[in-house]
Amino acid sequence: MCKNLRIRTPWLIISPHFDDAVLSCGHLLAKNPGAVVATICGGIAAPGVPASTWWDRRSWKSARDATLGRRQEDFEALECLNAVQAFADVLDVTYRGHDDDASVFATAIGDILDRFDAEHIAIPLAARAHIDHELTRDGALTALRTRGLANVFFYADLPYFVGRDTDRIARALSAIPVPQAPAHDSENELKREAVTKYRSQTPLLRRSFRRSYNSIFSPDAERLYRYQPT
Ligand SMILES: [Zn+2]
Repeated sequence: MCKNLRIRTPWLIISPHFDDAVLSCGHLLAKNPGAVVATICGGIAAPGVPASTWWDRRSWKSARDATLGRRQEDFEALECLNAVQAFADVLDVTYRGHDDDASVFATAIGDILDRFDAEHIAIPLAARAHIDHELTRDGALTALRTRGLANVFFYADLPYFVGRDTDRIARALSAIPVPQAPAHDSENELKREAVTKYRSQTPLLRRSFRRSYNSIFSPDAERLYRYQPT
């Protein structure tokens, strides 16, 4: 793609699912209006496919309802943060039926990277979080390597990583911690408001993660690591 057709942005956050970027980087997004959040598992399921997990059946009539509905929730959340929505069309593992196609993720993320001229890029740290998070991280690393892009950061996936040894995991990925200024109250309020827009997700996240869910709103909850490949 012609370089001057790429859209400039201060931050491009690569998100495995709709909600991960806001849960993990909501303060960062509040500090940086005009950031782009690109969700990789943003595909729309075919008509007639039933909602497959109790999580989805609780809120949606079908897989198509779930995948379309999450896009809308994400749009509303990003509007609160003055962020721009983008997505690839990879299906969530629940509807993909397989979980090991790393090249699909690398290609989808490469296409996203080619659309934006980002000053900074953030990708999930992912270890022990969820297979889609791991495929997103590994696909992003592959796509970034072939493009030689700099200013790349890992973010700790919240609420998965609250209280875990993220520094050690980041070090294994050739990344070092970047001190973050604590979020201001106004930035935290924007994150809280944005998170409420994920109406189908937040009650279940709160129930599943209990205390660690609340701690995603601590002013110092978010962690970034600068990727320094050797
Ligand atoms: Zn996720």
